[in-house]
Amino acid sequence: MIHNHYFSSALVRLHAERRYRVFADLERIAGRFPHATWHSPGGPRPVVIWCSNDYLGMGQHPKVIGAMVETATRMGAGAGGTRNISGTNHPLVELERELVDLHGKEAALVFTSGYVSNETGIATIARLLPNCVILSDAWNHNSIIEGVRRAGVEKKIWRHNDVAHLEELLAAEAPDRPKLIIFEALYSMDGDIAPVNRICDLAERYGAMTYIDEVHSAGMYGPAGAGIAAREGALHRIDVIEGTLAKAFGCLGGYIAGSASVIDAVRSYAPGFIFTTALPPAICAAATAAIRHLKVSQWERDRHQERASRVKSVLNAAGLQVMPSETHIIPMMVGDPEKCKEASDLLLAEHGIYVQPINYPTVPRGTERLRITPTPYHDDAQVDALAEALVDVWGRVQLPLRHRALAAE
Ligand SMILES: *Cc1c(COP(=O)(O)O)cnc(C)c1O
Repeated sequence: MIHNHYFSSALVRLHAERRYRVFADLERIAGRFPHATWHSPGGPRPVVIWCSNDYLGMGQHPKVIGAMVETATRMGAGAGGTRNISGTNHPLVELERELVDLHGKEAALVFTSGYVSNETGIATIARLLPNCVILSDAWNHNSIIEGVRRAGVEKKIWRHNDVAHLEELLAAEAPDRPKLIIFEALYSMDGDIAPVNRICDLAERYGAMTYIDEVHSAGMYGPAGAGIAAREGALHRIDVIEGTLAKAFGCLGGYIAGSASVIDAVRSYAPGFIFTTALPPAICAAATAAIRHLKVSQWERDRHQERASRVKSVLNAAGLQVMPSETHIIPMMVGDPEKCKEASDLLLAEHGIYVQPINYPTVPRGTERLRITPTPYHDDAQVDALAEALVDVWGRVQLPLRHRALAAE
């Protein structure tokens, strides 16, 4: 092919920087999560998954699978078009009603992914605000960055979770200029939480709109799984909530929720909503089943937090350096892309444990890490096996361990 060498040399560059990505070929086993089959180069092998964003195991919940199968059987596989052209199906309308109720907003709009909801939602909202300036947290996800870029308006980046810096930037703007503050409730690489109420205080003081990404918190935190803003009593202070149906809710799709006008405007102006086929009815029904279940069932949330603290204490007791986090995300800093990849490869090949390496550009260079995500379905024996495997691998790739006697103190 003409120009082929450009592509192959781009790949050579990635290999040289040790950030060429290799995907593990996995087959999840419904009903046995976190067990899976790894289709390794040497044939199929059993593994335990420790890095899934199916945080609560809802992807295998009988109610969710049941809704999906039953709906597909009745309504077929695809949606049949964009929402405008024959794609609005009843389960999708019901899903949006469910989201309205979950987040206590006037309206909600579903997209084909959380990525698209940020990318097209942010761009559309900002473009409809005359002379808008966007204030975006430095650690915001790539989907937010792309949304901001597409908006084509002025942007200011505030230092991660630094409200003093945010205030400085807000104060420098003319009082009547439309401002849009964008942040995440829970940052998924460090597992830290935004100071939601302090950000809302500033938004009120300086007349800014608030847009929160609750992708890593909806379903898992707050009353009925409504998220961190709800937990902090700040739901009414947030103008737009964005979330995914693919993480705690175990399915696929994204959404925004807010006032009737902002949602109707995005529905009417956002290209990433208008010009793409709607989610299939079966996926909508499955997501609705997951949301409904998590609204009334506290078991998954409690067990999730209990498992996360269990993993942290077992790993700490084994002398492993666990980055402190107040959430279910357990980052283990490696700080070297090669060692990070090697540790992950050894865990998979020799211990049947799957934790993929997190390297640049997902995290800054020098902060490469393994990111462990316990679920309600990881049992004590699996936690112990994880600790033993990590101790072995840490020794082999020459990463520091605390002395066990010290760790026990
Ligand atoms: C995963 C993620 C998204 C995108 O959601 P998808 O439904 O997977 O497309 C958006 N924001 C953040 C912070 C994410 O981590």
